[in-house]
Amino acid sequence: MTEEQAKVNLLNLDGNGGFSRIDAKPFWPTYAAKSDAEVYRCPLCRDTGWRIGEDGAYPCDCRREKQLAARKQAAGLQPALISHTFEAFRLDYYSDFLTDPEGRTYRQLAENAYQACRTFVADVLNDKHPRGLFFQGEVGRGKTFLAAAVINALIEQGGEGLFTVVPDLLDSLRYSYDPESETSEQALMTRVRQSPVLVLDDLGSHNYSEWTKNRMYALLNYRLNHNLPVIITSNLDLEQLKDILGLRVVSRIVECCDFYLLCADKDNRLKVRAEAK
Ligand SMILES: [Zn+2]
Repeated sequence: MTEEQAKVNLLNLDGNGGFSRIDAKPFWPTYAAKSDAEVYRCPLCRDTGWRIGEDGAYPCDCRREKQLAARKQAAGLQPALISHTFEAFRLDYYSDFLTDPEGRTYRQLAENAYQACRTFVADVLNDKHPRGLFFQGEVGRGKTFLAAAVINALIEQGGEGLFTVVPDLLDSLRYSYDPESETSEQALMTRVRQSPVLVLDDLGSHNYSEWTKNRMYALLNYRLNHNLPVIITSNLDLEQLKDILGLRVVSRIVECCDFYLLCADKDNRLKVRAEAK
């Protein structure tokens, strides 16, 4: 038998020790048939986080992604906010013909806000200490989306930031007075005060006691004095905020932020859901 014939015969082994071209069956066990893609979350490195190249081991891309996800979570971005990126922001959700009282179309307003966010990120990354941003608009107009997009972009480019939801932040501060709590008010306040960029999402939809008003004032004052920008979102305008938070707090906001209005004829989140159907 030549070597060539032996190979053909081996391929046609029929499982009974004989050779047959017609009844050829695989004789190797089927459990080996699962591909790496079915077995591992990352088939490239088989979930080890490392790949082997010509110059030795190097970190796999999935490792960077995992680290990035961890850093975003540490920056306060809940899973739902991680998809809020500049790339995913939909300017076409904003009307080209509906206008605000000053005659700016909803689309122009959204473009202004969007552009301000991109410039803001670039400035922060270049150590330029930009002024803060204040986004006002009703629920579902894209305020939180843009604020989260700023933090996402910062983290992805090696920067730092902290996303907080004001009612939750105030609850945490109050809770941190509890001796059972592991985070002291001091530690939490330090982080909120000193983060290079701080988002205060949903300012105003809360009952503010004198204690919380003082906390808010101290926070904004500290950041203003240290050139640390804030991004504030609110469904209230300044006049309404003044009634809730007092003139002292609002005057700090005016001093440290540029203002952007966001309008839409419908809740953008409903548009997303309608498109998904
Ligand atoms: Zn990998």
